[in-house]
Amino acid sequence: MTSPHTPDNPLLAEWTGAFGLPPFASIAPEHFRPAFDRALAAHRAEIDAVAENPEPASFDNIIAALERSGRDLERVSNVFFVLAGADTSDAIEAVEREISPLLARHSNALYLNPKLYARIANLYGRRGGLGLSPEQARVLDRYHTRFVRAGAALDKSAQDRLAAINERLASLGTQFGQNVLADEKSYVLLLEEGDLDGLPDFARAAARAAAAERGAPGKYAITLARSSCETFLQFSARRDLREKVFQAWIKRGENGGVTDNRALIAEMVELRAERAKLLGFESFADYRLDDQMAKTPAAARELLDEVWRRARAKAAAERDSLQDIVAGDGGNFPLAPHDWRYYAEKRRKAEFDLDEAEIKPYFQLDRMIEAAFETARRLFGLTFTLVAVPLYHPDARAWEVKDASGAHVGLFIGDYYARASKHSGAWMTSLRDQEKLTGKVSPIILNVCNFSKPAAGESALLSFDDARTLFHEFGHGLHGLLSNVTYPLLSGTAVPSDFVELPSQLYEHWLEVPEILQAYARHAATGEPMPKALLDRLLATRTYGQGFATVEYTACALVDLDLHGRRDPTALNVTEFERERLAALNMPAEIVMRHRLPHFQHLFSGGGYAAGYYSYMWSEVLDADAFEAFAETGDPFNPAVAQRLRDFIYSAGNLRDAGEAYKGFRGRLPSVDALLKKRGLADVIV
Ligand SMILES: [Zn+2]
Repeated sequence: MTSPHTPDNPLLAEWTGAFGLPPFASIAPEHFRPAFDRALAAHRAEIDAVAENPEPASFDNIIAALERSGRDLERVSNVFFVLAGADTSDAIEAVEREISPLLARHSNALYLNPKLYARIANLYGRRGGLGLSPEQARVLDRYHTRFVRAGAALDKSAQDRLAAINERLASLGTQFGQNVLADEKSYVLLLEEGDLDGLPDFARAAARAAAAERGAPGKYAITLARSSCETFLQFSARRDLREKVFQAWIKRGENGGVTDNRALIAEMVELRAERAKLLGFESFADYRLDDQMAKTPAAARELLDEVWRRARAKAAAERDSLQDIVAGDGGNFPLAPHDWRYYAEKRRKAEFDLDEAEIKPYFQLDRMIEAAFETARRLFGLTFTLVAVPLYHPDARAWEVKDASGAHVGLFIGDYYARASKHSGAWMTSLRDQEKLTGKVSPIILNVCNFSKPAAGESALLSFDDARTLFHEFGHGLHGLLSNVTYPLLSGTAVPSDFVELPSQLYEHWLEVPEILQAYARHAATGEPMPKALLDRLLATRTYGQGFATVEYTACALVDLDLHGRRDPTALNVTEFERERLAALNMPAEIVMRHRLPHFQHLFSGGGYAAGYYSYMWSEVLDADAFEAFAETGDPFNPAVAQRLRDFIYSAGNLRDAGEAYKGFRGRLPSVDALLKKRGLADVIV
């Protein structure tokens, strides 16, 4: 184990801060490149030693040795990518562009090392006689699969080509994400008081704070952070301004010039298809899904098609009712995409006597954080205590997590406010993952969101959707915090991507459980709980607008599978392809994909969800069915069900095949019925 003590570089010195946190205050962007260089070299030497080891191959001298290796690299990478996502800068972005092909090259050196693969293949061939524990057998199996899927069994010329493809893809993915961020940062719609027709107080306050942050005090700024522009689209009575904001939002990555992503997409799709072919698959989607719970694109598509037909029918009915409101208001225009959210909000208000401005004061950020904690206490016995530790940004906060016996579980960091240095979206990540191979290592888990920051002294208010996002990311967080495995490879969220959304999406259900909502949804000004009648109306709207939401999402998942399912994706015209596929799907003209291809970061910024955006729906089948397990007992916190959930899902990492894990929890595989019911699509006639 190398751990060079280099006092001049805080990234390479042992992190001795509270809870093992890195010394953020003394880390500067210029520390990263040399730290990466040294950590990469050290890991390379470790890998070579494992590959060249003259001893006969054993689980310990290959698999466990690899699992123990690369610790400096992991620490440097973890802190770097936390900053690159949540608090980036020109200097960090420059390092990111430099380092991403180097990391890809490094990964190639590991997975395409012929001596190393020969030793793993030898061990794998003898696996039945090695006396391995179930977890060790799983780790060996995963290593073997990973090496084969990376091309370790191919000939040298194919491997050289794969290596070049991987490096190029890494660079393109980095550039893609930076281009989207650049388009988001460069756009701001600065408004005067008189332009705010329809905006409720909370939206005015957020816009005012955003303008002040951008050096325009007294004005109102609408930005392309989702919470800013979606709120504006929902409330602004100014059709002209809604159109402006909406156009900027859907054109991210498609504005011509240096930040245009279309050429990058064409190249990435082509390279991915070529890689899949080299590895013996017909398309990238076939390659990708082979190692997922779904196994084949056909299985994923079957689910999406089932949902799509119903969602389109439901969205058509929603559109008609919105068009009626337009006519009723004296409007003489067909409903456009930039009108949908505005009229949907009006209809919601009319039909359920419910408007966002009435609800929002009840969803204070800090109370919702407490609600997420309380849910974890009731399900898993966890407690959370705010601790004062130096972090990378003053808006980030940390809580120590303990179990029912008072033992330390890990550290949870919540970084909830939008800012210009943060990528859009919401995500969970980690500074350190749980494992027991090198002693008892506790996790340091982050949730990063983009909620509008309130003016000084005021409490941040969330929409119900924002609150759901908070619970979602916290569910991922628990998947990391509760992890209880020995080997790092299997830790926490290291599961197939069509399974990884189960812990997060399942957790969203508890936000809607009355004893959580009633206790934690309290008015920001009066402290009063949400009146029962309002709560009932809020919960009654759960399936409201699901036609729109399901179409907006499912179109993305289908276009993703189409794009990555192409066998010959040469000469791709991205705009044309997207238009043609949506036409083939009969996409409603009034709805735009939730993520259009030029800014579809799930697919192209790193590529974690390439040919995998269906995963959210796949996981939703699981989460809807899984929550039924609690509903069936009449107790949303049923201790026996919660224990099984912890054993087989939240603490189990990748110990088992995803289908086996689910069966362990539920006793059977899920059916799609609970999902259709949850989305209000069960009774739709198609
Ligand atoms: Zn998620």
